[in-house]
Amino acid sequence: MTATDPSNAITRVKTVCSYCGVGCGIVLDVAQGADGRRRVIKVAGDKSHPANAGRLCTKGATGADLLAAPGRLERALVRPARGVQPEESGVDAAITATARRLYSISSSPLTSPDRINLTVSVVRFSNPRGTTRGGACSAYLADSPEQTTVPVHVQPTKHFRPPADPGAPMVMIGPGTGVAPFLGFLDERRALGHHGRNWLFFGEQRRTTDFYYRDELSALHDDGLLTRLDLAFSRDQRAKVYVQDRMREHGVQLWSWLQEGAHVYVCGDAARMAKDVDQTLRDIAARHSGLAPDDATAYVKQLAAAKRYVRDVY
Ligand SMILES: Cc1cc2nc3c(=O)[nH]c(=O)nc-3n(C[C@H](O)[C@H](O)[C@H](O)COP(=O)(O)OP(=O)(O)OC[C@H]3O[C@@H](n4cnc5c(N)ncnc54)[C@H](O)[C@@H]3O)c2cc1C
Repeated sequence: MTATDPSNAITRVKTVCSYCGVGCGIVLDVAQGADGRRRVIKVAGDKSHPANAGRLCTKGATGADLLAAPGRLERALVRPARGVQPEESGVDAAITATARRLYSISSSPLTSPDRINLTVSVVRFSNPRGTTRGGACSAYLADSPEQTTVPVHVQPTKHFRPPADPGAPMVMIGPGTGVAPFLGFLDERRALGHHGRNWLFFGEQRRTTDFYYRDELSALHDDGLLTRLDLAFSRDQRAKVYVQDRMREHGVQLWSWLQEGAHVYVCGDAARMAKDVDQTLRDIAARHSGLAPDDATAYVKQLAAAKRYVRDVY
């Protein structure tokens, strides 16, 4: 979160102290130094942050001095994924990667040219000492008063967009907040008059509390834009049911949609869901096509190479 004071060119950045893990809210004043580089000149506690209500320990309060120490911030090491060796990176690129939070846009510019909708799940939990903690960005968004101005940047996507072919069937697999972009996809297809069939797999823990966009999706299903809506609420019954289970149940139809040129989109959890869905697609291809497992894997790879199987997972 940034705000620039044009009178003395200080940029004020709200963030979270990374020192000990408590996650105190801090406000950084960033300004141009004598050498022309922008640097942190002051660190203050963020009075609106629930973790520290403006108070800072010595480490936090002297953060600007530490950052200005010779040799600091000249190079950065970034680990692109767990279990991978850190790679050297530019400091700016490293900070941007650490600080940014991406959210899928849940609307289409064709139907909503002046606003964008986001679907944000608020991160809140208690740490082992029982202190309530909130995600830096999602809790900030949720707790900010209405009309708060929040600077954003838009990261365009090349391939994660509805099929260009008006008649191509579209299969969307988006449990949890993974459903977000598909509201926009459906808006877009309707606005363009695309007549291809649309199938959404959505899942969460409980129908009563976690059925995001229930009314909107039910209306889209009732009016036929959403040809199929298959739901998996994992904790509503003793045996857990996930989107990949629904895919398997409807494997015959899913295979026939694929044969008719369907584009498959997966959005949401990268850690487990995306892998399980990927395996399920391979299993469906093997089971209903008669392909050997290796050939089914090659088929799914080929779908991806043809940009008919696209994922936006996190
Ligand atoms: C391409 C992409 C698209 C995305 N789209 C969306 C979207 O549409 N909607 C959406 O809501 N999010 C989306 N995200 C995720 C989003 O960017 C943020 O990562 C998310 O909102 C959390 O950010 P935060 O600043 O609130 O939390 P942070 O301050 O980053 O805290 C999150 C961290 O809190 C800790 N934590 C969380 N829960 C617990 C717990 N129970 N116990 C202990 N520790 C815990 C974990 O370490 C976790 O990594 C997307 C991410 C990507 C990369």
